[in-house]
Amino acid sequence: MGRMKYQGPLLGVVAMTFAFGVAIATSVPAASLATPGSFDAVQIAGAVGADQSYSAEGGSDPTVTRDGFAVHTPTPTPKPVPVSSGASEGGYGGAQCQAGSDSVPESAAFSPVYPDGYKLSDGFGPRAEGFHKGVDMLNGPGVPVHAIADGVVIAASGNGGTGGVYLSIAHKVGGQPLCSMYMHFLDGSLTVGVGSLVVAGQVIGLTGRTGNATTEHTHFELYGADGVRFDPMPFLAAHGIG
Ligand SMILES: [Zn+2]
Repeated sequence: MGRMKYQGPLLGVVAMTFAFGVAIATSVPAASLATPGSFDAVQIAGAVGADQSYSAEGGSDPTVTRDGFAVHTPTPTPKPVPVSSGASEGGYGGAQCQAGSDSVPESAAFSPVYPDGYKLSDGFGPRAEGFHKGVDMLNGPGVPVHAIADGVVIAASGNGGTGGVYLSIAHKVGGQPLCSMYMHFLDGSLTVGVGSLVVAGQVIGLTGRTGNATTEHTHFELYGADGVRFDPMPFLAAHGIG
């Protein structure tokens, strides 16, 4: 069916692990799963409230002072170039993540967002203008953006808010809800819409700079059923798609 298979050795192991239905916790470092306490099903009850943050996607920071971005980033060399505001990025809630995940089978494969590589700019964490809820992956205009895993599209937006043209996909990983979000697509480039089933590696749109972005990049987030974003890099690394 054209399902992309990542060729890396680690992923091969992970994919095989999934094929045999073994819990993900047995195949990745425990530390990489420590952040998403969000996967606790008990927290689903809070997801409804979290959904209210969806409206924040519309943005409330129209006049961000970009020159303040680089000051606080602790990364030693070279200092990453801030490319967007994170103050209101990624407001989509957890209930949709849970519902979407419930409707799809376990992901059978994984893929990098950019199989040919990218430059990591701002990472996950506090920034001067607010907590950055994802990571910024720099790439050229029009470079295809790929779904990281099998799943179903639970959000797709045209340009307008600070996230610009964005997309969110619900996956099931290790039997748990996991949702990915991608922002700042080139306007009009989305290839899928809400309800679309996607497979790992499928092109879902093209890299742009819509919304609050100062250069072409994809703002990428991961979150669970509680809607709380966590650092996606350990998860990506553990699955060989970082
Ligand atoms: Zn960002």
